[in-house]
Amino acid sequence: MLVIMEKTASESSIQRVKEKIVELGYEPHLIEGHERITVSVLGNQGTEDRMYLESLRGVLEVIPISKPYKLASRETHLENTIVQVGEVKFGDGNVVMIAGPCAVENEEQTIRIAIAVEKRGAQMLRGGAYKPRTSPYSFQGLGEEGLVILAKAREKTGLPFVTEVLDTETVSLVAQFADMLQIGTRNMQNFALLREVGKVGKPVLMKRGMSATLNETLMSAEYLMVNGCRNVVVCERGVRTFSNHARNTLDISIIPAWKQVCHLPIIVDPSHSSGRHYSVIPHALAGLGAGADGLIVDVHDRPEEALCDGPQALHPEEFSKLMEISKGVCNSIGKTIGTGKTA
Ligand code: PEP
Ligand code: MN
Repeated sequence: MLVIMEKTASESSIQRVKEKIVELGYEPHLIEGHERITVSVLGNQGTEDRMYLESLRGVLEVIPISKPYKLASRETHLENTIVQVGEVKFGDGNVVMIAGPCAVENEEQTIRIAIAVEKRGAQMLRGGAYKPRTSPYSFQGLGEEGLVILAKAREKTGLPFVTEVLDTETVSLVAQFADMLQIGTRNMQNFALLREVGKVGKPVLMKRGMSATLNETLMSAEYLMVNGCRNVVVCERGVRTFSNHARNTLDISIIPAWKQVCHLPIIVDPSHSSGRHYSVIPHALAGLGAGADGLIVDVHDRPEEALCDGPQALHPEEFSKLMEISKGVCNSIGKTIGTGKTA
């Protein structure tokens, strides 16, 4: 790390910085520039050290050189990580398609939609048994019953499923059923939940917080990893901006930035970014163009009856169209998408 001193920093403040660096167990090196003094700090620094040095008078700024995330960083793991869920592989250079209803509403609905997306080439099923709803009066999900239904849909279609875990109390229950645990956008910085989910050893789909920076997202992935989960897939699902023409603003710019610094796969949720069915395909294609390792899409055969997020659900026929166009895009960049089935 580099400690940049103010132009007007006194000799005694520079001396104090050097002493503090030694106290912390590192070696200070003075770099005398034209305008100011910079002290470089040699040694394997801890996360609190920056704060201690930044509190000293005469210090303008402390610039970390190495990354605060270690396990998620490409510096420590050069190759792309491939996250495997059953037979499905995220991050192997191809695109994984996850599809299904926003929420598990009942057994019939879930199995119908699971069959519809499987026939059309989806590799995984999505569906919430526990739903994080803005309003306490909205449908909250079927809970454990929903997990049982998802397991039946898996049995019927062979599709592994991803489902959200909302709180620490239900982590082990959800993990008994699910092939992949989802951390929702509202929980990306629920550190207690990240710790528990990290410990259970199932692959995780972690959605980016709706106002989280790249670094904050990386640090949350780091929480999962340091607690034992190395199979983390991150999902860009749109962030909050001044724009109000879509539910969220799909920030595809995070994809190349993510891949530059992190070896974990990143996928896009064009349903929760757009909020409306007519924008789902454009958002999905933008994600593929930016290099996403997968898509997670809401599909419902009766969106007008859906208990959650009907306006953003694709009809199965629209999902077929998404698959067809995506295949064209993926072929042109040397990738495959889905299982290859079409309907
Ligand atoms: C979901 O995928 O069902 C969901 C609630 O998404 P998000 O956490 O991105 O809002
Ligand atoms: Mn939803």
